[in-house]
Amino acid sequence: MAISGAKRSPRKRKVLQPRRVRGIVPYTSESVFDMLADAMGEVEHRPRLDGTSELVWTILSQHTSDLNAGRAYEALAARFPSWQQVVDAPTDLLAATIRHGGLAQQKAPRIQAVLASVKGRTGSYDISFLAEMPLAEAKAWLQSLPGVGPKTTGVVLSFALGMPAMAVDTHIFRVSHRLALIGPKITADEAHDILERSIAPTRVFAFHVYLITHGRRVCKAIRPLCHACVLSKRCPSRESLAIPGDDRQPNPGFAAKPL
Ligand code: SF4
Repeated sequence: MAISGAKRSPRKRKVLQPRRVRGIVPYTSESVFDMLADAMGEVEHRPRLDGTSELVWTILSQHTSDLNAGRAYEALAARFPSWQQVVDAPTDLLAATIRHGGLAQQKAPRIQAVLASVKGRTGSYDISFLAEMPLAEAKAWLQSLPGVGPKTTGVVLSFALGMPAMAVDTHIFRVSHRLALIGPKITADEAHDILERSIAPTRVFAFHVYLITHGRRVCKAIRPLCHACVLSKRCPSRESLAIPGDDRQPNPGFAAKPL
């Protein structure tokens, strides 16, 4: 599978060894990738935004829908044509501008603090230089910005800069737990690195897309469609979650797409 824009990392991969979980030897991440790729088809990486815009978008999208985040982002871009104007704006005015994204009183000062920090460290609002850094260093740089965690880091590096960083959202976290790709005590923050190391760097972005799409369409939080799941044969959670007589079909409206 060709994923344009993905950079290779010289890091050493730690391959998770299959072990029995509730009497079943689970699939490896590579096997899950292959089976979901067969079911969903090829995924191509197409950056939607530059790195700084993706960073701001990701903050706006926290705890809200894509639709509301999009409305907030468009309002911000329309009112403030430059990042400098966002930083210089009265925080209440910025909050009012992005109100459609929810939690505006928290997101507005966070966006200003992150942008000011980028400018203070680099002299500009351009973070494209991260793509030239080793992955671990790029992650550390982003996570040293105020309020930026592993998920935002994964989104920015993977989506905007084409780096093999894994972004783990609630769907990916749930699916990974159910398939035993990660252990039962692994937290969402820990899952990023574990899942990232379990798959070839060139496959990380598509793996994100496959898992999130599988979680939205089949392995739902409530009443997953185990009877219609291509991974059910060796899923350690199937026995406890499958619903006898269930004949619902996955919603075909969910296209394979990232966060
Ligand atoms: S069998 Fe059920 S729990 Fe397991 S991955 Fe498929 S939908 Fe999810």
